[in-house]
Amino acid sequence: MNPKRGEFLQIIAGPCALEDFNQAKEVADFCVKNNIKYMRAQVFKPRTRPQSFQGLGTKGIPILQYLKSRSLKLVCEVCSIDQYYLISDYADIIQIGARNMQNFELLKSLGDAIASKTMGPKILLKRGFGNTIDEWLGAASYFEARGISSKKIYYCERGTRNFASPSGVTLDLALAEYVRQETPYPVIIDPSHGTKDSRYVLPLTRAAMAMDFEGVMIEIHPRPKESVSDAHQAVSLEDFQVFINEVIPTHLKDKVVLFKDQSHGPSH
Ligand code: PEP
Ligand code: MN
Repeated sequence: MNPKRGEFLQIIAGPCALEDFNQAKEVADFCVKNNIKYMRAQVFKPRTRPQSFQGLGTKGIPILQYLKSRSLKLVCEVCSIDQYYLISDYADIIQIGARNMQNFELLKSLGDAIASKTMGPKILLKRGFGNTIDEWLGAASYFEARGISSKKIYYCERGTRNFASPSGVTLDLALAEYVRQETPYPVIIDPSHGTKDSRYVLPLTRAAMAMDFEGVMIEIHPRPKESVSDAHQAVSLEDFQVFINEVIPTHLKDKVVLFKDQSHGPSH
């Protein structure tokens, strides 16, 4: 058996984008109540169209400060090195989104910036929705070339574009399993972008948990229909609460260290 299997399980939950203080507080309350340690806290959003909400930007920094005051660990996406420096005091994990997986200048500058810190953040590197595993490994190696340990670089499976499923994306759990068996990288599954439909997010989360990946990242929102981005895939807090209550204790029992002993989570 692969030694990585069952080592720990982390849940990362939060909205697609931080929208305002109240929304952030409602999600933070939910995470704290359920002992979810990692929250998505995105203030920079890469969007298909310039007219779409681009994130709160620097206006969101007071919200990041507030979330840190709640003792949450934050997962923050950056699309440029300037954005990294704006949020680096608050981010525990830096997310590189699917569209930026092969933004090599960003990978180099971010790698240098993170490697220069003794307790730098971890990196969640999403596989681009059209990229091969070899291309993902190549992207990850940009960080390793700068001295960042593979244990601090998470492979994030967020689905491949396809022509078969109604949502146009397939979450590739087999590929994620390959990464876990054949590489040193911890694996995080993103069933939200991997299904693009809130009806399928929790069933696929359940599948990822049953496979004992190192973590799952789920988009949740207090009022999914009002979500300014990715509304169709946002899971309500009520539905996620039911899922946590029912699925985690019964399906994973002692494997869920999250609720028993947080010290087994990813360390910094
Ligand atoms: C996200 O996680 O908010 C996101 C934009 O995902 P992806 O880069 O996988 O599309
Ligand atoms: Mn999203």
